Amino acid sequence: MAEKVKRGKDGGEGGVPETGCSRKLRISRRLGELPPYPFAEIDRRVEEKRRQGVDVINFGIGDPDLPTPPHIVERLCEESRRPENHRYPSYRGMARFREAAAQWFQGRFGVSLDPGREVLALIGSKEGIAHFPVAFLDQGDTALVPDPGYPVYRNATILCGGLPVVLPLDEERGYLPDLGALGASLLERARLLFLNYPNNPTAAVADIAHFEELVHYARKYDLIIAHDNAYSEITYDGYQAPSLLEVKGAKEISVEFHSLSKTYNMTGWRVGFAVGGEELISALGKVKTNVDSGVFNAIQLAAVAALEGPQECVRESCEAYRRRRDILVSSLRSLGWEVHPPKATLYLWMRVPRGYDAESFTGELLEKADVVVVPGTAYGAHGEGYVRFSLTLPDDRLQEGAERIRRAFS
Ligand SMILES: *Cc1c(COP(=O)(O)O)cnc(C)c1O
Repeated sequence: MAEKVKRGKDGGEGGVPETGCSRKLRISRRLGELPPYPFAEIDRRVEEKRRQGVDVINFGIGDPDLPTPPHIVERLCEESRRPENHRYPSYRGMARFREAAAQWFQGRFGVSLDPGREVLALIGSKEGIAHFPVAFLDQGDTALVPDPGYPVYRNATILCGGLPVVLPLDEERGYLPDLGALGASLLERARLLFLNYPNNPTAAVADIAHFEELVHYARKYDLIIAHDNAYSEITYDGYQAPSLLEVKGAKEISVEFHSLSKTYNMTGWRVGFAVGGEELISALGKVKTNVDSGVFNAIQLAAVAALEGPQECVRESCEAYRRRRDILVSSLRSLGWEVHPPKATLYLWMRVPRGYDAESFTGELLEKADVVVVPGTAYGAHGEGYVRFSLTLPDDRLQEGAERIRRAFS
């Protein structure tokens, strides 16, 4: 949990953690610039309710509740018994893993990759995303970060001395960025563009035509694209999410991050991979050789079992989320609230009813229905006016939560 940080006089001068430890202990300016933990106040109120014996239903957590499929767990058990897997893994990932990832990618998106040069194993995609700006930003260099967005893009940029510039995502544009609106001088200055479709938190999706437009801008202004595709497999109603690398000419200037976390319910395992242009992958790899020592071989081999094994488990997970989505959507709609069922991701992003803002509505849901959601502002200022529900609760809990909301607000 992030410590609460007191800003220095000019707002950026280090800051002293409010923990009562030595006053000489001064955190770095960069760390001091990171926003405080956005859920501290909600956590405190949930804790207070639970102490009073109230059963709180939490729609705030984006972590699959379903277990990892047994054939993957089995493979880990076998591989973890082999002494040859007990040593340091290779930095870039086992050849076997990179080949399986390239093969999966080819089958899924029709794009061929050289497993030797264009694939890199990651300790979860968050690790790769957080280290990527270290490879491409110098002090003061600009990265464009979507708002609302996964906080890692912005915070990793700050941690390596870069300057995050907000790329607003608005409902009117389907939460797709309008690069043209940023102006040429900013685009010329920017080095990195973070994207994430299917999107957390808005659940928006982008089609190939949108990716083509973004690649066009990136080539014109010499931007590197970092595309987070963590939700490519969590889709509904026949929708299939594309890869950015399907766009001609995208690979040389892009890295795409993939994760086994959501696809195979493996968030705790910490395994993912980056794919993209050889120079980009090699630079990210160079950063990693200096900060970590790779993914446990037994976990990489279990990931191979996931990528090469039967994929029914993925369809079953999506079916469970779809069922939950429909339960929640119908409850919220019965209150006359405007709800758009997501085509992808684990989330339902909803505009708050008239008379509320993100925070007051979140507070009201907790007080009146004992239900927790995430206020949109936790993902940036442009998340104001929205809340995010996760679909990662067992059906009966989700149903009960939806019913409580219906009763409390009708
Ligand atoms: C869950 C999530 C990830 C995946 O993180 P891992 O480190 O692979 O577990 C990446 N990006 C977004 C937007 C996510 O929501």
